[in-house]
Amino acid sequence: MCYIVGMNLAVIGAGYVGLVTAAVFADLGNQLWVVETDKEKIKKLKQGKVPFYEPGLEELLLKNFEQKRLKFTQSYSRAIPSSEVIFVCVGTPNKKGKVDLSFVYGATKSIAGNLKKPAIVVIKSTVPPGINLKIEKWMKRFTKLEFELVSVPEFLREGKALPDTFSPYRVVIGTGNKVAAEKLLRLHQGIEGERLICSSASAQLIKYASNAFLPTKISFANSIAVLADKFGANVDEVMKGLGMDARIGPDFLGAGLGYGGSCFPKDVAALISLSRKVGHNFRILKAVEKTNQAQINYFLKKISRLCGGEIKNKTLAVLGLAFKPGTSDMREACSLYLIKALQKLGAKVRASDPVAIEEAKKELKGIGFFADPYQALKGADALLLVTEWEEYRNLDFKKVREAMRTPIVVDGRNIYNKEKLEELGFAYEGIGK
Ligand code: NAD
Repeated sequence: MCYIVGMNLAVIGAGYVGLVTAAVFADLGNQLWVVETDKEKIKKLKQGKVPFYEPGLEELLLKNFEQKRLKFTQSYSRAIPSSEVIFVCVGTPNKKGKVDLSFVYGATKSIAGNLKKPAIVVIKSTVPPGINLKIEKWMKRFTKLEFELVSVPEFLREGKALPDTFSPYRVVIGTGNKVAAEKLLRLHQGIEGERLICSSASAQLIKYASNAFLPTKISFANSIAVLADKFGANVDEVMKGLGMDARIGPDFLGAGLGYGGSCFPKDVAALISLSRKVGHNFRILKAVEKTNQAQINYFLKKISRLCGGEIKNKTLAVLGLAFKPGTSDMREACSLYLIKALQKLGAKVRASDPVAIEEAKKELKGIGFFADPYQALKGADALLLVTEWEEYRNLDFKKVREAMRTPIVVDGRNIYNKEKLEELGFAYEGIGK
C-alpha cells in the first residue's frame, strides 16, 4: 500500500488488535508510537519479534519499524504529547462473567495525564455500550485539555487479521462530533469497506451484537448437527442447503466442537451480564452459551463410544491446540476443555499443533507435546481432530494408520472424508455426519 495520510498516531496496547492497527496505519504512511506496559513485549518488539503468531504481521511491523514510521515504548510521556489520534487497544477480559474495564481506565488515565494538546481518543477495545460518558468524565479528572472520545470497534479475525484490517466489511465510527468523524474518515482512506457513522453507544453495541450473532449461528449449526446424527442426515449437506438462502448466508454454519477464542465466549458472557444489569433476560444468548458448552460433552461421548465405552488408560492424540487455525492464541480454546476432561477420565493425551505448543504448555500439564502430528499419533487409540490446520487436512492416512495402535478418528471439525477413511480401515465419526 502507498496511500500517504501522514498523521501522528499512538496505539495503546501491543496485543493482537494494537499491533495489527499499528502495522496497518504505519504502512499507510502515518507516524506511530506503540505504548505497551509489558517490558518483555517491548523488548521483543524492538528486536523485530512479535510475541504471538499472526500471518504476515512480523514482516509488516519490521518493514515499518525499519522505515522509522513505528516506535515502541513503555512511556506515555514520550508517545502522547505529539499524537493527534490515540487508539486504545487494551484487553477487556471477562472477570466472573462481567467485563473487566480496569485496563481501559488505566490506559485512559495515562493518556489524559500526558496530553499536551487536543486529541482524538479512539476506543477500539470492546467495551459496554454507553461507557464513553463515564470514561470521558474519568479522563477529565486528569486533564484540562480538550479531547474527543470516539468508538471505532475492531472486527478483525485472528489468523486473518491483516487482510481483515486492510479490507474489512465495514468501518464503524461512533461519534456525534463531525470534525472527529471527518478526521477519522480521512485516516481510514487507504482502508476498504463500507463506512457507518453512528453514535458511540451504537458502535459499541454493533460490536457486541456481531460477536453474539456469529456464535449464535455456530450453536444453531451444532444443534442441527445433533439432529443430523439422530436422523441419519449429513450436517454438511444440510448447512450447504441452508446457506444457499441469501437471507441466511453460508458463513459460520460449520458444525463441530463449538467456538472458543479470546472474543466470542467473553463477549457472549458480557452481553448476557450487561443485559441482566438493565433488566433484560437475553434468553437466546444463554442458550447459545449452553449449547456451546454441551458440544464438548457430545464429543466426549462419541470418543468414549468409539473407544468401546471406556476412555480410562486410552492414549488419545489431539491434533490442534490453538482455538482456530492461523493463530497461537489459546484463550478459551476448545482443546483446553477437552484435554482437561480427558485427563479427568484417565486418558493419556499426546497433542500436536504447528504454532501453539508454547502457549499451550502454560495451561496444560501432564501431556506429551509434539510438533510433528505423526509423532503425536504414535501408539494412539484414537485421533481427535480439534483445530482444522491445513496440514491436518492433508495427512497421509496410510502413515497415520501405521503410527496408531487403534484406527479410530473422531473429527471435531468435520474435515475428513468418512468413506475414504473407512476404506482405509478406520472407524470414523464426525459431528452430524
Ligand atoms: P491482548 O490481551 O492481546 O492485548 C492487550 C495488550 O494491552 C496487552 O499486551 C497488555 O499488556 C496491554 N496493556 C494493558 N494495559 C495497558 C496500559 N495501561 N497501557 C499500555 N498497554 C496496556 O488483547 P487483544 O486480543 O488485542 O484485544 C484488545 C481488545 O480488542 C479487547 O477489548 C478485545 O475484546 C478486542 N478485540 C479483540 C480481537 C481479537 O481477535 N483479539 C478482535 C476484535 C476486538
